[in-house]
Amino acid sequence: MKVHEYQARQLLQDAGVPVPASEVVETVKAAMAAHEKIGGTVVVKAQVFAGGRGKAGFVKLCKTPAETETAAKFMLSNRMVSKQTGPEGIEVKKLLVADGVDIDSEYYVGVVLDRARRTPVMMVSREGGVEIEEVAARNPDAIVKEWFHPHLGLQSFQIAKLIGALGLTDKEQAKATAKVLRGLAKIFLSKDCSLAEINPLIRTPDGQILAIDAKMNFDDSAMFRHADLQKMHDPTEENEAELRAQKADLTYIALDGNIGCLVNGAGLAMSTMDIIKLHGGEPANFLDVGGSVTAEGATEAFRIILADPKVKGVLVNIFGGIAKCDTIAEALINAAKEVGFNVPVVVRLEGTNVERARAMLKEAAIKQLIPADDLTDAAKKVCAQVA
Ligand code: GDP
Ligand code: MN
Repeated sequence: MKVHEYQARQLLQDAGVPVPASEVVETVKAAMAAHEKIGGTVVVKAQVFAGGRGKAGFVKLCKTPAETETAAKFMLSNRMVSKQTGPEGIEVKKLLVADGVDIDSEYYVGVVLDRARRTPVMMVSREGGVEIEEVAARNPDAIVKEWFHPHLGLQSFQIAKLIGALGLTDKEQAKATAKVLRGLAKIFLSKDCSLAEINPLIRTPDGQILAIDAKMNFDDSAMFRHADLQKMHDPTEENEAELRAQKADLTYIALDGNIGCLVNGAGLAMSTMDIIKLHGGEPANFLDVGGSVTAEGATEAFRIILADPKVKGVLVNIFGGIAKCDTIAEALINAAKEVGFNVPVVVRLEGTNVERARAMLKEAAIKQLIPADDLTDAAKKVCAQVA
């Protein structure tokens, strides 16, 4: 699960990390009122689940409420297109109006899970503000890492090393930064984060250390033990198809290609995507209907896939074990009747009740349905259909 910047800022503040004063608004008028209240120069920031806002023009320093009016109008009436959004961009529904601060230096601080080492890792860099992936590609030595024990947490000697790497020699500033690093590590562990990042952490010309942008992702499997985080969930920012799938107990992840995949079992779904790629195609999604799928669940899966305008062909790949081939055949027939197949649907069924399933499909004589002999045949056929 992801949260907005304003929510991440709240979590930081709760953990003792200093953050400039701010307000969340949804209208131009409220943005101007927030500016009046905060006073001086403010920064108006789009609250969306995507970064790269600064470059896209969706983070604006505003000296007067009139400037805030212009910035807020622009952000609320234009879709934000950044490197992280895709060309269609995303709608902006909320804005953060925050106290604008003077910046002397920008730093990067982030915690992720290092799967290879099986521990969290804190990364810091003097090259803050820009995307950390860019720094990693251009100058990997500019990122300094400390791995820490998930139960013992980030140790004082590690904090000292990281602060040294940031070049913060002033005693007061080092102390303030220590508090930030400790707070971020604590959030990462106590809230079951998969990512907790401050970019940038800044030093003001008068030596204050402040977090002015934050990003946090949380492990969905741990959500059950975080009632406070559950309340922060904003379903309007999620992919609509992914939400629908969640409700139907389907595992669905939207991808960029044009071949919709309907598969049972995550491993089979992975290999289906691999074989599509092997034959030159690009999957439009990952969809695992699971073992205990019902005809209704599978029909919903077809609805979700076929509702995606990017989908130019579908590959159904079912290995009937617990899930029965005839259940899927029934769903195929339902979906064809109900939504109609506007694109070719290549079907490969194997396993439990496959004979009955094939007979059902033959009798239904669905237009656009193309049977396949095996997985390779299916992948070749669907790739040829969308080429
Ligand atoms: P992002 O582009 O989505 O990561 O949004 P950020 O909140 O990180 O803002 C991008 C950049 O805008 C920062 O790296 C800063 O350089 C600048 N910026 C953001 N807030 C302020 C502020 O309060 N004062 C000043 N002077 N610059 C800011
Ligand atoms: Mn940022």
